[in-house]
Amino acid sequence: MESASSISRNTTHALAEQLSPLTQNAAAIEADRCLYCYDAPCTHACPTHIDIPRFIKKIASNNLRGSAETIFASNLLGATCARVCPVQELCEGACVLGADHKPISIGRLQRYAMDYARDHRSYPVVNASPTGRSIAVIGAGPAGLSCAGELAKLGHTVTIFEKRTQPGGLSTYGIIALREPVDVALNEARMIEGLGVTIKTGVDFGKDLSLPALQKDFDAVVLSVGLGRTPGLGIEGEEAIIDGLEFIEASKANAASLKVGRNVIVIGAGNTAVDCATIARRLGADRVTMVYRRTDREMSCYEHEYDFARKEGIEFRFLTQPSRVVLEGGLAIGLECLGVELGAPDASGRPSPMAVKGSEFLLTADQIVKAIGQIKPSLAADLGLETMKGFIEVDASFQTSLAGVYAIGDCIRASGAASTVMAVQDGKLAAAAIHHWFAQQSAPVEVN
Ligand SMILES: Cc1cc2nc3c(=O)[nH]c(=O)nc-3n(C[C@H](O)[C@H](O)[C@H](O)COP(=O)(O)OP(=O)(O)OC[C@H]3O[C@@H](n4cnc5c(N)ncnc54)[C@H](O)[C@@H]3O)c2cc1C
Ligand code: SF4
Repeated sequence: MESASSISRNTTHALAEQLSPLTQNAAAIEADRCLYCYDAPCTHACPTHIDIPRFIKKIASNNLRGSAETIFASNLLGATCARVCPVQELCEGACVLGADHKPISIGRLQRYAMDYARDHRSYPVVNASPTGRSIAVIGAGPAGLSCAGELAKLGHTVTIFEKRTQPGGLSTYGIIALREPVDVALNEARMIEGLGVTIKTGVDFGKDLSLPALQKDFDAVVLSVGLGRTPGLGIEGEEAIIDGLEFIEASKANAASLKVGRNVIVIGAGNTAVDCATIARRLGADRVTMVYRRTDREMSCYEHEYDFARKEGIEFRFLTQPSRVVLEGGLAIGLECLGVELGAPDASGRPSPMAVKGSEFLLTADQIVKAIGQIKPSLAADLGLETMKGFIEVDASFQTSLAGVYAIGDCIRASGAASTVMAVQDGKLAAAAIHHWFAQQSAPVEVN
């Protein structure tokens, strides 16, 4: 796999951004369809509570600067969210026009306003006086960038420490390019730097930097480290299986040089698995099959993603559990699987898959990719933090079991689907909580 240190701003046409930007005319027509609802359900459905009718009205009156300001007031990462949010499940799903007509294309209108902001450098500014407080944020993903930007707006001094060579977290390295090009994520990180935030990349917290060192230099520490790599399947021949996150990352770094098989199996049925299957298909695989232990009713990908995958010509094998990778000369030539029967619900609330003894069968493949989730952050144990289901445990103000140490984003998401917009909202709320915590203290304190 190519290193993402060379993460590319280009991508092949096959993975170019799927939706084109709205033209001025199309945006005006779409904005005019909005009913500007009072107590708008779309705003309630947005986890960051963007005042959607207000930003749409400003597009209708051609006040794009005002429209962008309205979005930024609730969500500093509006450009990313406009592209990656599952709008069908959130704002557009709640739009009153959805019942009888087409819902307003809120995501595309938001992108229209955000593209204007980018093209005209119409970005938020810091109006607050410096507070003399400093915060270290670990991880420059959506949660960390949002928190850092909001803290900077409140007058605090913020330094982000990021272990990768580029900021953006999964927006840069993980989200398929046809949904979010790398440039969008990097540009947003630059906007956060424009608020006075320092981003130090190539710094691995836990290796290059310790918590006591940070506690000496900063008034608070925020952990926004996301999750880890794809877990193991624990089957024979697993070394020949490609990690789905690395597969996507390589497609963003240099799609043209990513080796894609002709007959590809993707293990898993979440959104990441759909992304891996889409990449394989779009980069030339003749046949892509997603293999899943349960049925289409239990798949964790969104329904619209499942529809999209089927339209892409991706095949599905349900009630199928991989048991062994069949190798020839060290290369995968097939996946031996077992049939599955579903039993009583397990801890996830879904029927538990039970492999049927003696039901082995072979699926041929020349490339196998696994996309079965991400491992929990090991940082929690290393720092002695309380955890919940392996995730870092926080209180209502996002404070961990260590005073002055906060955690946000995927690394705390013990329940509910992890998403970019939830990470952004965590960052915003944690910034407000930290600001409040400082205000309760008369002078800068030593965190312990
Ligand atoms: C393949 C894939 C596709 C997705 N697609 C979508 C989508 O379309 N829409 C959507 O809403 N959500 C999507 N998600 C989920 C979304 O990307 C995450 O919920 C979101 O990125 C979480 O943000 P975060 O900041 O908590 O974590 P991350 O984005 O993971 O960022 C964490 C950052 O912390 C850094 N870090 C980790 N450890 C250290 C350390 N020790 N020292 C320094 N830095 C460290 C990492 O390098 C990373 O930059 C997708 C997820 C995946 C895996
Ligand atoms: S619910 Fe639909 S029509 Fe009403 S304000 Fe929101 S986008 Fe406009």
